[in-house]
Amino acid sequence: MKKPFLTLKQAQEIVKTYPTPFHIYDERGIRENARALGAAFAWRSGFKEYFAVKATPTPGILKLLREEGCGVDCSSLTELMLAERCGFSGNEIMFSSNETPAEEFELAARLGAIINLDDLTHVDFLYKTLGRVPETVCCRFNPGGLFTVGESKEGFQVMDDPGQAKYGMTRPQLAQAFARLKELGTKRFGIHAFLASNTISNEYYPTLARLLFETAVSVAEETGCHVSFINLSGGVGVPYRPEQEANDIAVIGEGVRRAYEEILVPAGMGDVAIFTELGRFMLAPFGHLVTTAIHEKHIYKEYIGVDACAADLMRPAIYGAYHHITVLGKEDAPQDRVYDVVGSLCENSDKFAIDRPLPQIDMGDVLVIHDTGAHGFSMGYNYNGKLRSAELLLKEDGAVELMRRAETPDDYFATLMW
Ligand SMILES: *Cc1c(COP(=O)(O)O)cnc(C)c1O
Repeated sequence: MKKPFLTLKQAQEIVKTYPTPFHIYDERGIRENARALGAAFAWRSGFKEYFAVKATPTPGILKLLREEGCGVDCSSLTELMLAERCGFSGNEIMFSSNETPAEEFELAARLGAIINLDDLTHVDFLYKTLGRVPETVCCRFNPGGLFTVGESKEGFQVMDDPGQAKYGMTRPQLAQAFARLKELGTKRFGIHAFLASNTISNEYYPTLARLLFETAVSVAEETGCHVSFINLSGGVGVPYRPEQEANDIAVIGEGVRRAYEEILVPAGMGDVAIFTELGRFMLAPFGHLVTTAIHEKHIYKEYIGVDACAADLMRPAIYGAYHHITVLGKEDAPQDRVYDVVGSLCENSDKFAIDRPLPQIDMGDVLVIHDTGAHGFSMGYNYNGKLRSAELLLKEDGAVELMRRAETPDDYFATLMW
């Protein structure tokens, strides 16, 4: 069963100051999870998580993660600017972008960020843009074909199709990029790959690590380049559905350690650092979208209309993603109703839940939509003139802090040239 980190009593208190809908994040959960990740990789000194800013580009969250020793992974000009404003600099910033404009490479270099190149042609593009290449550069690898994790006969199988993905370089291009960078003056090299998203399997990172470690050994031999880190990127998922079992980050870290001992250490590469760029795993479970039931409708189906909509959380509308819902104060009530829980957009896909068993919902009930801490607020938009909601932090001491105010109509009109 999924339990909200917010009680009805707390929610009733909060809405007196901050009306629904709003996103709220759980400081305690975020910190504990970040520490568990650090502990899982403590066997390798120099381990660093670069939080994927796109998941939750909120200064209050980024600063909190920085206190826990995390860096940031940026992919655009404004994400870099946000990182700078939050106090990140130098190798606390990873810049993993694709189809990158020159000005973004310039800013990344000025901040001293580690640049992760998506393509072989970007080596000379970067050189032309900066007039030099940085001493440390990472390259993104795409092994092509199908990427599979786990046994097909039993258990969960993760499969993705890197051959159809626009990211990264082929294996021969990776060696070419290293050789060219070395010729231009790069001294330390990293290898990155992101091959599957939202994996619910303790085997994803270890399988990916094996592939990247073997690649690192062979590319280092081929080019004479010094590989100083492997970036396992994002992709460790969270159980959105109550029947799914959460990943065990300690088991994942141990699986990566075994691969490291078996492949890198015997090759004399026991000094390679491990980096991650997790987004969803770091934040998704620690965010709730809180919304109020404001209409009920009985036609061919039973509908509950809430004051949030897909502009606050678009994953259900665009991916059909499941997000669990709890009716606050009715956590233990029998789930003897079946509802579609819907937002107000003039789009029939604006449904947070379809045919969902829930307790009877009365008007004014406060609903928690779970696991919205990553790719929730950040994917928000202004369709139908909807205004983006506020973001709150539930602090460890129980106080509530406003991290981002809700938009007003003035914000919506601010870019118009009347
Ligand atoms: C989105 C992204 C991540 C984070 O992915 P999650 O699935 O949220 O862990 C990490 N690295 C890159 C390059 C990304 O684009």
